[in-house]
Order: sequence, then C-alpha cells, then structure tokens
Amino acid sequence: MTWETIRKDSTAQVAPNLADYARERSEFTWSRARKCLDGLPCGRGLNMAYEAVDRHVGTMRGGKVALRCLARDGTVTSATYAELAHRTARFANVLRSLGVGRGDAVFTLLGRCPELYTVVLGTLKNTSVLCPLFSAFGPDPVEQRLRLGDALVLVTTAALYRRKVAERRPDLPGLAHVLIVGPGAEELPGTLSFDALMAAASGHFAIPPTSPEDMALLHFTSGTTGTPKGAIHVHEAVVAHHATAAYALDLHPEDVYWCTADPGWVTGMSYGVIAPLVHGVTVVVDEGDYDALRWYRILDEQQVSVWYTAPTALRMLMRGAPPQRSNDGRAVHDLPALRFVASVGEPLNPEAVVWGQESLGLPVHDNWWQTETGCIMIANFAACEIRPGSMGRPLPGVEATVLERGEDGRARITDGGVRAVHEPDVVGELALRPGWPSMFRGYLHDEKRYEAAFADGWYLTGDLARRDEDGWYWFVGRADDVIKSAGHLIGPFEVESTLMEHPAVAEAGVIGRPDPMAGNIVKAFVSLRPGVEPTAALERELLAFGRRRLGPAVAPREIAFDQNLPKTRSGKVMRRLLRARELGLPTGDLSTLEGSV
Ligand code: AMP
Repeated sequence: MTWETIRKDSTAQVAPNLADYARERSEFTWSRARKCLDGLPCGRGLNMAYEAVDRHVGTMRGGKVALRCLARDGTVTSATYAELAHRTARFANVLRSLGVGRGDAVFTLLGRCPELYTVVLGTLKNTSVLCPLFSAFGPDPVEQRLRLGDALVLVTTAALYRRKVAERRPDLPGLAHVLIVGPGAEELPGTLSFDALMAAASGHFAIPPTSPEDMALLHFTSGTTGTPKGAIHVHEAVVAHHATAAYALDLHPEDVYWCTADPGWVTGMSYGVIAPLVHGVTVVVDEGDYDALRWYRILDEQQVSVWYTAPTALRMLMRGAPPQRSNDGRAVHDLPALRFVASVGEPLNPEAVVWGQESLGLPVHDNWWQTETGCIMIANFAACEIRPGSMGRPLPGVEATVLERGEDGRARITDGGVRAVHEPDVVGELALRPGWPSMFRGYLHDEKRYEAAFADGWYLTGDLARRDEDGWYWFVGRADDVIKSAGHLIGPFEVESTLMEHPAVAEAGVIGRPDPMAGNIVKAFVSLRPGVEPTAALERELLAFGRRRLGPAVAPREIAFDQNLPKTRSGKVMRRLLRARELGLPTGDLSTLEGSV
C-alpha cells in the first residue's frame, strides 16, 4: 500500500528542505552540514548552547520568541532569544560560583517549566554535562541514575525533592549541591534556592573553549539486563540535531514548533530543546499532561506549524476526540497553521497515518531513532511518498542495513563478521554504520557494554526490521527484552530488582504485554517466598509498592503470581517464554516472538 502526501490547501506552504531524496543523499556530507553552524567565535570550538541561543542574539532573531511556555493553569510566559541568552549565562555563572566546571554532571528532575531550559543550556555553556531525569520516575530510578551518573548538582523542586530524593540523600555523598526551583529551599536542609542564586549571578558569561568532542549530554537508557546505561553525547551532536531537524521535521525559521516529548527523554532533549533552537524557531513548551482538548487548543491557539509527537498520544487523540466534521466535510479541528506532523518512539500504526490525513488534514510522518543514535536516522520526509506503517528511509549521511539473525534473534556474529540481508522483506537486526556526529561515544563507566553494541563495523540497534524492495524500512520488534510503554523505554531488570526488594517476593520476571493504546504495558510475574499467600490484597500492595518506588512511568500495571517461573539452566528467568505464554504463542522457537509488538 502506498500513500501520496496530500497537503492542506489552507496551509502556508513552504518548499520542503529535502525535495529530492536521491540527490540529497548523494550530495550530503557531514562536513557540509557542520558549515551551517557558526562555531564559537575566534575558532574556540563548538558549543551546543552557543549554537542554540547566543548565535541568534546578534542577528534579527535576538528579539524573537524562543520559548513560549504554557503553565498548567494556562498562563503563558515567553522568552526571546536575547532573554534566554541572558538567563542561561546567569545559570552558567551560578554553576561557576559553586565550583562546578567542565565535565561535572548537572542533573535535572523537573517538569517542563521554563527553568528547565535555562538549566540545560546554562549547563552546556559552562561545559558541564547535563543529565535530565524524567519527573515521573520514582525514587529508585532517580537514585540509581544520580549514582551511576556521578551527579554533582541536582536541580529540582521542593515537592520532587521531598518525595524522591531527600530520604536517599545520605546514600549519595557525591551529590554536593541541590538547587530548588521555586519556594521551599529554606525548609529543606542541604539545599539552595535556585532563584536566589540566579538573582545574585551576572548575566554575562564567556563560554569557555569547547571541543566538539567534549561531553555535553548524558541520557540513561535501558538494556535487557543490568543497570541503566548512561549514553554519552558530545557537543558535536548539534551538527546532526540541526541537519536532521531540517530533513525529517522540515523545520524552517518561521515555524512555531511543538515537541510533546518530555526533555527527560532523548527526544525531548534533542528535538524539544536543542534542534529547534539551533534553527531559531519559536518553541512551544507545555507543562501540562496529555489532554485531548488542551492539545487541540494548543495547536490552534499557538498556531503550531510543525508538530512532533508520539504514537500513543496520537492513538489517544484518535480515541478521545473523534474528529467532527462540518457540513462541508472539513474537520472541525481545522488547524490552518499546521503544515507538518511527525511521530517517533514506537510503531506508528497505519491507521494513525490515515487518521492524521482525515482529521488534521495531514498525514503523520513516522521516524525512527534511539537514545544511542542521538538523532533521527530513518524517516518519512515531507516531499516523499509515505508508506503507512513504514519508518521511512535513512537520512542523508546515514547508512543503514538489515543483518542476518542468529539463534538468539540478534545479528549472527561469526568470527567477528556479520552478513547483511540483501533480499527484500527479510527480517533481521537493524544496524547502522557509525560516523554521524550525534552517535553516542560510550556508556558511562561501561566500556564492555559499549563494545558489545558493535560488530564488524556496524552499530547493532537491538531492533528487528525489514527493508522492502524500494528501500523503505519496516519496524518488526525488539530483538531483546526491553519494553516500550507509551513511548518510554523500560528495562525489565530495573523493575524486577525493585519488586524483589519487597519482603513477599522471591523472584520476578517482567515483560511487556501488548496494549492497544500504550503499545505495551509492564506486566510482572512474581513467585512468592515460602509461606506467603497469593492474595488479591498482596497483588494490590505490590502494585502500589511498584508505583511508589519506581514511579508511574515504570511501575508494573499488572501482577501475576507464578510459583514456577520458567528459567534457563543458569537460573535466569526466561522472559521470552513468559511473554510467549502470555500471548498464547508457540514456545518452541523463541526467536519468532518479536512479531507481537
Ligand atoms: P529510546 O532510546 O528510548 O528513544 O528508544 C528507542 C527505541 O524505540 C528503538 O530502539 C525502537 O525500539 C523504538 N522506536 C523508536 N522509534 C520507533 C519507530 N518509529 N517505530 C518503532 N519503534 C520505534
């Protein structure tokens, strides 16, 4: 099935940045993409925050609105590029006054408030490393990431600090400074007031020389086993953020842009903060949670022209507010300013693409990437045919392939070598040729896991895909056990470890159970300690325990008791078998289970 893009008549049309896919791919080089950026004055290097903010200040864009922040109560506050430059300079000075310098880790645990953007960009100006945490994480994931990431500074609110950090603080001796945004620092021992520090800081800051290879961002992601992995990204990644936002999001300087992802995740950082600001567009930031009417209102009132969102949100919109039609057949949610819609993070069902066309007047452009790649790798482009259900084609500068699979479902590695699948529509592990600027440079303190992510000159993504005969890529599933729920990547090991800290639990195996709305929900199978009865009350208690400790984004939504958890010979719980049983699939060939995402 193919789908030619039908564009809205009412939309102010712009020429797409990528008009001819084949030509752009053949002519593109990353060094040419680098030339679109300014670099620090006097050849002092490349700094993400300079590209995102300061370089606009001396131009016509200085007075343009950079951020338009919508508070939960509907209050709108805006900051121009010049104001953002000033604020971020202040925060860089705050860090400097605390003795925080190059390479030191600054963590955020904040909602999508204006201060978050100040902290992110101020940290980058100071050449410190920014690590964002999702504010819906519970105390366990927060503590673990603060520890694994060597957090020196945490910026949060009084409420989040009280609920998620205060009790664990004695176990985090390296966490030297906690800055509280808003009121409350006075009542919290061991914290400082963000506002007071900002008020005392100068608004002038000279960005120190920054090597493109200096570490800039740390994003935690999950694997099948072990602790979360801290993917290291460097300042040079900004070259890829800029180029890919032009190609895959079709950003133009006059756009009003809204990315619904939280900056606690990589999408919300690369494309919610850095890329759009580097393009000098106006970025809409909504502090509120998903609400269909609120979202339509934002698209309408803020005159959003480019919208980057996620399949779960689109599915919720499809269900929550069925598009109503006026007598002439127009969608009631007529959004004349909207000209491009993209989505990422989980499979986008073909119905959602079609729904976009019918109710928004635009199809949804799916694209694919992951924390490690730092930027979009495969996309449907504004000027190209969309094949609903396909992730699209590799971006200019990106070489992708599908590798033959071995017994374990992942790329087969024989004597260090791998084999690409040449026939169309054969499922294999999606792999990428390293070399683009936002490629992760390592997993923090985990060289072994980093090395294991490569074979024979390819980066192995852990995803299964097929390529059709015309070169479009189709997502098939994960080759490992990580769970995508509502677009968030969840490591089963992290959930199992927390559950096993409950006194009633002997062992746990955690899987993703397919769900029509969220893609998957987290389901835990637990075996109980001798003498403990599997009651409904205990089930409720374990669900509440999970929520309290892990937070709603990660906690299991379902618990099943099972005294005979299937195990490997070495004693590991076989999640794939649990999943096969749950789905009623044959359990003989476990490598076939991926089709059920
Ligand atoms: P994260 O590192 O949290 O951004 O998650 C990356 C993973 O999300 C990928 O490895 C895929 O499994 C999944 N993913 C991202 N984009 C898509 C997409 N367009 N279609 C299907 N799965 C996707």
